[in-house]
Amino acid sequence: MITVFANQKGGVGKTTTAVNLGASLAELGKRVLLVDFDPQGNLSSSVGVSSSDKTIYDVIHGGVGAKDAVRGTEMLGLDVIPSGIDLTAANVELVDTDNREFVLREAIAPLKDDYDYIFIDSPPSLGLLTINGLVAAEQVFIPLQCEYFALEGLSLLLSSVDRIRKNLNPNLKIGGIIFTMFDSRTRLSNEVVENVVSHFGRKVFRTIIPRNVNLSEAPSFGKPINLYKPSSIGAKSYMKLAEEVIARG
Ligand code: ADP
Ligand code: MG
Repeated sequence: MITVFANQKGGVGKTTTAVNLGASLAELGKRVLLVDFDPQGNLSSSVGVSSSDKTIYDVIHGGVGAKDAVRGTEMLGLDVIPSGIDLTAANVELVDTDNREFVLREAIAPLKDDYDYIFIDSPPSLGLLTINGLVAAEQVFIPLQCEYFALEGLSLLLSSVDRIRKNLNPNLKIGGIIFTMFDSRTRLSNEVVENVVSHFGRKVFRTIIPRNVNLSEAPSFGKPINLYKPSSIGAKSYMKLAEEVIARG
């Protein structure tokens, strides 16, 4: 199953969720590949992989095979294709490419059977990189921060998903909305969750990821939360989310 994490807002937990949900699935015995498709490379550094070797840019641009760009991580069963700042150029270069929306899809196709889950992390925009992610994927996971303006961006994202389904990728499903950085003490967090659940029902994952400082510390150690602090509420929450993802099939 190929899943893209998308939300054109930055800082909503796309990368954190791709890394820690992926690592939790790996801990449960699944084979997981993380594809870093954000030029900022936060996903790569969050699992301790640098962009000095082959990156996703070399795969989509330089004729490097996807399998040759895969790197292992400290976590058994968790692999990554890193990105680097050179991916920024792809945004511009792809504009003049035939099939410019299908470049990532074609690039990772040879890896599909090697993994139970392929997670694509995308940048905070609805530009060509994110479109490539949405075209490559079978489903989109939408991390939402529990704050008032979360909903404004959501309708724009959902209409982009609709457009891509009509024109480019008829198989694309909304895999689910994932609440992140929940603060149970604030009424606002609770209200946002209730509001979204009343609109989207079962599309919303029951597991809600709370705000947890360990989740923000882990990337600087290059470790997913289940290696950095397995007893933390952040680690437990992502493990619960992984179980829910498996149960939903
Ligand atoms: P995005 O990829 O959508 O831009 P990130 O996953 O990078 O968002 O998260 C933005 C920031 O918030 C990062 O510094 C990250 O460490 C922090 N963060 C994400 N989720 C949580 C959480 N549940 N609790 C605390 N900090 C978090
Ligand atoms: Mg990110």
